[in-house]
Amino acid sequence: MRSGQVVLDVEGLRMSYGTNEVLRDVNLQVRQGEVLCLLGPNGAGKTTALEILEGFRTRSAGRVEVLGADPAHGDERWRARVGVVLQSWRDHGNWRVRELLAQLGAYYTCYSTEEIERPWDIGELIAAVGLTAQAEHRVRTLSGGQRRRLDVAVGIVGRPELLFLDEPTAGLDPVARREFHDLVDQLAGEQHTTILLTTHDLHEAQKLADRIVILTGGRIVADGTARELAQRIAGEDEVRWSQGGERFVKSTPESTRFVHELFQRHGEAIADLEVRRASLEDTYLSLVRTTAAEPAEAAR
Ligand code: ADP
Repeated sequence: MRSGQVVLDVEGLRMSYGTNEVLRDVNLQVRQGEVLCLLGPNGAGKTTALEILEGFRTRSAGRVEVLGADPAHGDERWRARVGVVLQSWRDHGNWRVRELLAQLGAYYTCYSTEEIERPWDIGELIAAVGLTAQAEHRVRTLSGGQRRRLDVAVGIVGRPELLFLDEPTAGLDPVARREFHDLVDQLAGEQHTTILLTTHDLHEAQKLADRIVILTGGRIVADGTARELAQRIAGEDEVRWSQGGERFVKSTPESTRFVHELFQRHGEAIADLEVRRASLEDTYLSLVRTTAAEPAEAAR
């Protein structure tokens, strides 16, 4: 998955709101076809980073190149190659689903060049996001999950090469969330769209991403596949046991050896043994806690 050409290149990105420094020397590359998840707690700087990459916010310092251009100076032709799904967008409530998408689709037809594939047939687009039954419904009558699907349809109506999704499943119930994950898989698998999405949900990142970048306190603290991160930065295992009527807890990176030695030394005196293996979740939580007191977070 990392063989495609670099479509997004960020070097030394910094951003401050007044004295609040929220992005500190962020370096990031995304390759064509990757689904990259920017994972971090609230206030980590994810939305700010995404807005800079989308060209909606001016950075304080650093070099940013998205599809060969600086987003701060991206022209309409560049913008047509980039799809954006914001956390929420203001209302087109009275429009019907098909009407809204047809209108937006018409905007992109003027950019149908060799780099930009043919526009969607609107019925096909509506089917792709699973809204066929709601095609003639007014936007304001859609459920949260349906609304999010429409957001994605709006984001991909121009068949973008690169799609930004900001906290796409925030507020969705588990069924809608699952359906949304399937949609993202389908976009990546069938449409070969490069996707950069933000989330504060580790499980979502593990489920969707080819690669996870953990951002906390405005810094990237980890970058790799879920498996690589779990192996590279796994925290300590926890061993609990009872002995002589007392309960003990020991944190250790080598629980197997520790348990072996424990039994060698104390044998049958050991009871109620439990071993909890370190997981990516533990690592993530400890990374987040370590940076929680830093200024960018504390300023919230
Ligand atoms: P995330 O998306 O990870 O929750 P944000 O990028 O929204 O993080 O916010 C990072 C920090 O920047 C927070 O401390 C937040 O309060 C601050 N911030 C975000 N947007 C603005 C803004 N428009 N003006 C001033 N501060 C902001």
